[in-house]
Amino acid sequence: LVSRDNHPDRSTVRVGGVPIGPDTVTLIAGPCAVETPRQTLEAALMAKAAGATLLRGGAFKPRTSPYAFQGLGEEGLRILAGVREETGLPVVTEVVDAQDVDLVASYADMLQVGTRNAQNFALLQAVGAAGKPVMLKRGMNATIEEWLMAAEYIAQRGNLDIVLCERGIRTFETATRNTLDVSAVPVAQRLSHLPVIVDPSHSGGRRDLVLPLTRAAIAVGADGVIIDVHPQPELALCDGPQALVDGDLEELAGVLRDLPPLL
Ligand code: PEP
Repeated sequence: LVSRDNHPDRSTVRVGGVPIGPDTVTLIAGPCAVETPRQTLEAALMAKAAGATLLRGGAFKPRTSPYAFQGLGEEGLRILAGVREETGLPVVTEVVDAQDVDLVASYADMLQVGTRNAQNFALLQAVGAAGKPVMLKRGMNATIEEWLMAAEYIAQRGNLDIVLCERGIRTFETATRNTLDVSAVPVAQRLSHLPVIVDPSHSGGRRDLVLPLTRAAIAVGADGVIIDVHPQPELALCDGPQALVDGDLEELAGVLRDLPPLL
């Protein structure tokens, strides 16, 4: 269902009216985690000023450590819905448990499946049945074939509104959190008709790499990027070191403005 063999034209997925697909480069931005209404609104306004047309933000956070901030849950979803109201930005947010899919879908415009759940087949089937577009991160240990098969689980439930997100894979390299596999973008686009975006924030895990990796993503033809921003990253409850701050946003907007012509 997701293969390009029977579907030669590349697909565009619409999220609350915002297109993600071959004719554009979509910027999704916002805080890694929803912490407070004010922090979320400020991050959303920063994102919008940089050209974002979709707001990201985690209410359910799948953290490596059980002692780390796990997200605000439904309260976070309510905050996201309020910020959507104020900014007009449709909301992309992660769901980590099949049991929460209906709840998250009742607030979100797009459901995100994270790298740690990329082969949680019960969750993939549940988001496939939820009637909302889905962003499927690549498992950090998944081959491109495994990633596409994970997408197939979603598609099998009748949902072809799937966006693939390359977010770095685990390699021997420790200088970055994960290694951004830029080749995955054109490879996945040749194998699948689904849009492919890149997460330069979670792959590198470092603010200073976000803009260079964004340029790389665009250069290889990504259909969009998803980027963490935070008004005060030093106080962030999640992944502050990778969040862009106000001073970075003009440069980010410039990177998107100076896009190479679409092929
Ligand atoms: C995220 O986007 O909030 C996130 C946790 O990303 P990943 O699943 O790629 O680590």
